[in-house]
Amino acid sequence: MNDCIFCKIVSGEIPVKKIYENENFFSILDKNQNIKGHALIISKKHFDTILDMPDSLGYEFLDCIKKTALKLIDKTKAEGFNVVNNNFESAGQIVKHVHFHILPRKKGDSVKVIG
Ligand code: AMP
Ligand code: ZN
Repeated sequence: MNDCIFCKIVSGEIPVKKIYENENFFSILDKNQNIKGHALIISKKHFDTILDMPDSLGYEFLDCIKKTALKLIDKTKAEGFNVVNNNFESAGQIVKHVHFHILPRKKGDSVKVIG
């Protein structure tokens, strides 16, 4: 039995509102909105970390990041954004299904991405 929360979102067992999707990736808002517009790029196939993701998915991965970031910039009036990817527990990975955080940013905000 697959207990992966992101696989449950992919299968439709947990319904979500998608921001953007292509054949291999989709994006949703993170349930934690401490940063307004914090979104997740999620692979439709289960890979534990970026190391398991085939290089051939690079094109669609970038497509999903760019389209999602542009939509978030439009919606939140952000001036920039960070892309963050945690791999393995020691680096803060909680959900063991590869995903990338998009953090919309504004000049002077107090968001600390590193440190
Ligand atoms: P990470 O530490 O990189 O594994 O982060 C996992 C992220 O997934 C966290 O920011 C959670 O808030 C987010 N998350 C977990 N479950 C859900 C869910 N059902 N819908 C949206 N975001 C989720
Ligand atoms: Zn999964």
